[in-house]
Amino acid sequence: MTKQNVMMPEEMAITAATAAGKVANSSTHLLFPPPRGNSGNVNYASYKRLLSQLELNGGSGRLNAWVDSMRASSPTHIKSDSPLASPVVASDDEEYENWKKQHPSALDMFDEITAASKGKQIVMFLDYDGTLSPIVDDPDRAFMSDNMRSAVREVARSFPTAIVSGRCRDKVYSFVQLRELYYAGSHGMDIKGPAKQPKHTKAKANALLFQPASEFLPMIDAVYEALVEKTESTPGAKVENNKFCVSVHFRCVDEKKWSALAEQVRLVLKDYPRLRLTQGRKVLEIRPTIKWDKGKALEFLLESLGFADCNDVFPIYIGDDRTDEDAFKVLRDRGQGIGILVSKFPKETSASYSLREPAEVMDFLHRLVNWKRLSLKEREKVL
Ligand SMILES: [Mg+2]
Repeated sequence: MTKQNVMMPEEMAITAATAAGKVANSSTHLLFPPPRGNSGNVNYASYKRLLSQLELNGGSGRLNAWVDSMRASSPTHIKSDSPLASPVVASDDEEYENWKKQHPSALDMFDEITAASKGKQIVMFLDYDGTLSPIVDDPDRAFMSDNMRSAVREVARSFPTAIVSGRCRDKVYSFVQLRELYYAGSHGMDIKGPAKQPKHTKAKANALLFQPASEFLPMIDAVYEALVEKTESTPGAKVENNKFCVSVHFRCVDEKKWSALAEQVRLVLKDYPRLRLTQGRKVLEIRPTIKWDKGKALEFLLESLGFADCNDVFPIYIGDDRTDEDAFKVLRDRGQGIGILVSKFPKETSASYSLREPAEVMDFLHRLVNWKRLSLKEREKVL
């Protein structure tokens, strides 16, 4: 389902890291919750070093490190006659299976997850790109399937449900088209309650609108215009205005031009010290320097739903990107609910569980809805 010719920077980084240091076997016993972080034998030291090289705000040297890492690991090199090609590909499955011992499949652990949620209100948080839709070359064409839409609709009928995306809220709504959801766009900087009030929501959801970075709107528009102008000479470069952040997409740009494009972005950003540059999946993103992220958005939404300081809530957050890690960390620190990382590759993550791709996300959502229906029927029998 996911386009195989698109490899993501994080996936490349971890592929390189795991190729450098083999993941050793630990226990085959699956725990609830599973051990997190670095407690296993996974060699993440080189991965961390690689990631630290990718921090972009340190100037053009680090920017080049990011571009070099992306280029060196690009599929066109891995799949070529390179002597690296065979060992890396041959060990992929083994590495993934070992990583899964730390982050088991949420499908395999479904019964344990629902047992842990007993007596608590499940609240669903779903990222969009790479979680509900496949990653595609043209970000304007990242459509979700009708089957996925109906699965999300059913979930929203069963539990309070929010979409949390880096995209502009209007854009993600145009893809999802479900009025009964909460939408947190621009990495949570633009939050709106459902247009159609779900029956299980305590608070007056449809009145909810929260935009913590609204003062940055004119600045974001200005930097968007500047980036469009600067990058129009680079074929394939695409600048997307996500309202509270701007994305510069590298997917369709010739690899030879990546460094020059990254440098153009950096030069534009020099005039905007209140904006910062972060990396995503073959994308550079420009955001306000406020302390707000998907994790803060998750906390804000839980509070808005009436679950502040509650023990009877069980949030489930499903996402595939680095920006989702902020939300996974919040859940880990609160000791509440679970994070599920969508990935076909081993990655360092604060999520407890994993799913391989959007098709597995859909299976998980279906099972959750069926489980809810069955448990309601059983309760009715008892009463
Ligand atoms: Mg995503």
